[in-house]
Amino acid sequence: MKQRTHTWLALRAIALLEDEGETPNLVRLLKPHAREAAIGSWIPDMADSKKGFGDIDNHIFKLKPYNRPGKSRFVRSRAKTLKDLGDFRRMGQFILDHGEILGKDWWKQAYRADPPPGQHLANRSMALSTALIDQLILGDPKVAELVPGTVRFAHRLSPESRPRPEEIATYCFMLSHFMADACQPFHCDARPLAGYSAGVHKELEAHWNKLCGTYFDKKKLLATGDRPDSILERARAVDAEIGIQFSNRVPELNARDLWQEVIYICRGSFAIASILVPPSLIPYGSSKHTRFAEVFEKNEQARKRLADLDAAVLHDSVLNIAMAWKNTWATFH
Ligand SMILES: [Zn+2]
Repeated sequence: MKQRTHTWLALRAIALLEDEGETPNLVRLLKPHAREAAIGSWIPDMADSKKGFGDIDNHIFKLKPYNRPGKSRFVRSRAKTLKDLGDFRRMGQFILDHGEILGKDWWKQAYRADPPPGQHLANRSMALSTALIDQLILGDPKVAELVPGTVRFAHRLSPESRPRPEEIATYCFMLSHFMADACQPFHCDARPLAGYSAGVHKELEAHWNKLCGTYFDKKKLLATGDRPDSILERARAVDAEIGIQFSNRVPELNARDLWQEVIYICRGSFAIASILVPPSLIPYGSSKHTRFAEVFEKNEQARKRLADLDAAVLHDSVLNIAMAWKNTWATFH
């Protein structure tokens, strides 16, 4: 997703936690730094954060058919994929409504992603969430006031070495980036057609940027004198543009940990990519590309599918971000 969309998603996730009302101190930690979401939620895609770190220069999980020994481990039935997504996510509904085109055999095939460990989207999400827990444990007095429990040795550290709320908020926004990317179908499909500059991927993200509106552009948001309350209000107002409604409930993870949850989401995203551009049209081995107009503007049915996709991906991205933050925070309850 593009920067403006990432910013909106992170802000909307703060508003969702606020509306749910179960983690008021987490909201107190993030909300004052709402404007900084414009930077933090985009850090993983900035050239500076990609260079100079060896393998840790990307965040991907691109699936493709896998036919080597032991392949049965990488088969996920339709029922299991839907169960893993949970009925609180819209992506499952999208697969139910539009997934007929995949056919029975599609779900019997093994698919695997094999990114280098440092680039693995689930590794990066889990690593960041774990590091955030440590930051919350060692946080400065302002953080310690919000986090339940006391850490007896923390006061022995020099105050400068203890993470400040601003830092923690920035890393939370970074985590939001990974959670949102897991929901973008073309991030999870290894076909060349899904490459960022290959056509449909970039064009779809430009379409989402339009839905979010220019208020969330970095320059504008950083320059605005708006208070966090009004920024979150502007974020809530975008729901109507997309045609989504939140239940104001942020469930626990379906999986045991965030690593597995990200895999569940990526599996769903890959199925959706394969619904949008069926392998019967462009096989997994093909280097053919396609365009937004071909996928989403051909006829009434394609346009309807786009509206459903917008609602599913953007709703679930917000929800997944809120879930990842809440799950990290839940360590302290
Ligand atoms: Zn990204």
